[in-house]
Amino acid sequence: MTKGDGVNHIVIHSAADCSGCTACAGVCTHSAIRMEPDRLGFLYPKVDESQCVDCGMCVKVCAFHPEYDTSLNLATPVVYGGRHKDMREVMKSRSGAAFVAISDYVLNHGGVVYGAGFADHFRVVHKRATNKAERDELRGSKYVQSDLTGIFSEVKTDLQNGRQVLFTGTPCQTAGLNAFVGKKLRANLLLADVVCHGAPAPNVWRDYLEYVEKKEHEPVTGVNFRDKELFGWDEHRETFTFGDKRAGTERKKSYAIQYYSNILTRQSCSNCYFANTNRPSDITLADFWGIERVKPDANKDNKGVSLVLCNTEKGRELFDSVKAEMSIFPVLSNGYMQLNLRQPTDAHPHRNEFEEYYARYGFVRAMRHYHFMGFRLAFTRWMIRQKSRAYRFRQGLRIK
Ligand SMILES: Cc1cc2nc3c(=O)[nH]c(=O)nc-3n(C[C@H](O)[C@H](O)[C@H](O)COP(=O)(O)OP(=O)(O)OC[C@H]3O[C@@H](n4cnc5c(N)ncnc54)[C@H](O)[C@@H]3O)c2cc1C
Ligand code: SF4
Ligand code: SF4
Ligand code: SF4
Repeated sequence: MTKGDGVNHIVIHSAADCSGCTACAGVCTHSAIRMEPDRLGFLYPKVDESQCVDCGMCVKVCAFHPEYDTSLNLATPVVYGGRHKDMREVMKSRSGAAFVAISDYVLNHGGVVYGAGFADHFRVVHKRATNKAERDELRGSKYVQSDLTGIFSEVKTDLQNGRQVLFTGTPCQTAGLNAFVGKKLRANLLLADVVCHGAPAPNVWRDYLEYVEKKEHEPVTGVNFRDKELFGWDEHRETFTFGDKRAGTERKKSYAIQYYSNILTRQSCSNCYFANTNRPSDITLADFWGIERVKPDANKDNKGVSLVLCNTEKGRELFDSVKAEMSIFPVLSNGYMQLNLRQPTDAHPHRNEFEEYYARYGFVRAMRHYHFMGFRLAFTRWMIRQKSRAYRFRQGLRIK
């Protein structure tokens, strides 16, 4: 993103410079910016020059750069590991249900919670929850970039009405919202981000669902992006529900393989400014990868442990208020430092070619061509397994 070329509005010179947070579109009081999808379904701002008055607000609000606001941060984050005391919550959450603990607290005190849920047949979008039933849809990781259209303005309205708001999302989303609401309204806003490996393409997710439904001759009625009941916390396999029948076979594992190949991720993800411990949010939630080294007993049942970074005083106070709901332990070593707290994810070397091919020939041909379906898949799986074993060996983790 840059201004220049004789104009004061945003100009996206390279797709890697925009995370799609929507802050620029939300801030434009002249409705001159629309978020439009690219071939993979990622949203980018498009300026209608006939409406633009060149005020420069959209450039000012953009937080996707190295100088994003961390003015409230503690000198170093206060780090905990742990899980919710209620194992039913842990089983329904991706990690140790830290999100449930903090969102329960906010809801119990009359606040509002925002996070990623579903609309229009499992399209991933951000949603507003005012009670636990609505919040429950926001539980669990959805490995697709969520659509934030209109959400930042809803958050602002809640804040202007004096409500406390917990907004959860990827760090590019929390950084964008922080810039959008401005310092005056920040007092009632709690920001929680996730350690982020990258955001996969919405259109590929849509096509994959359609493919699965065609194969099964039944509509999908439920999605679990990482089913730890069937496969354990440290596996990454999605399962689908068809009608009332549950399925989770090898055959349906291909989306996870695509995800970890990094061929589906947004261009900005390999240029991400937030892959470090200088977070743009009050609190950071993650899977506690490396728990074996830090506290070997904490995950004996392989049901998952949360990593929690309290980055600001507000984040620390929030987590102090929910400690009683969780079994937690302080982390004093740097054994929690996983890859995406050190550096962004490298994109697949053929990521751009994939995009071209997918746009031209569609999902099934692209999947076959890039070895995510068909006879080459077995080889790809074997390669990934070897890479994963090598990674686990280097990290000192249990080798499966
Ligand atoms: C795209 C993505 C990449 C991730 N990469 C990593 C990683 O590399 N390492 C790691 O340790 N953890 C990663 N996580 C975080 C991890 O998977 C858990 O979400 C986190 O530990 C919280 O778990 P929980 O048990 O506390 O709550 P859960 O209930 O499992 O998490 C729900 C929270 O995740 C948010 N969320 C879910 N899907 C999305 C989405 N598509 N976009 C924005 N927010 C979303 C919800 O708003 C909610 O706040 C990633 C999450 C996502 C969504
Ligand atoms: S410069 Fe101002 S009017 Fe033009 S697009 Fe940006 S915010 Fe809108
Ligand atoms: S990162 Fe957000 S604010 Fe910046 S150009 Fe992209 S959508 Fe607009
Ligand atoms: S990797 Fe960075 S740019 Fe990509 S979704 Fe995550 S926070 Fe946003």
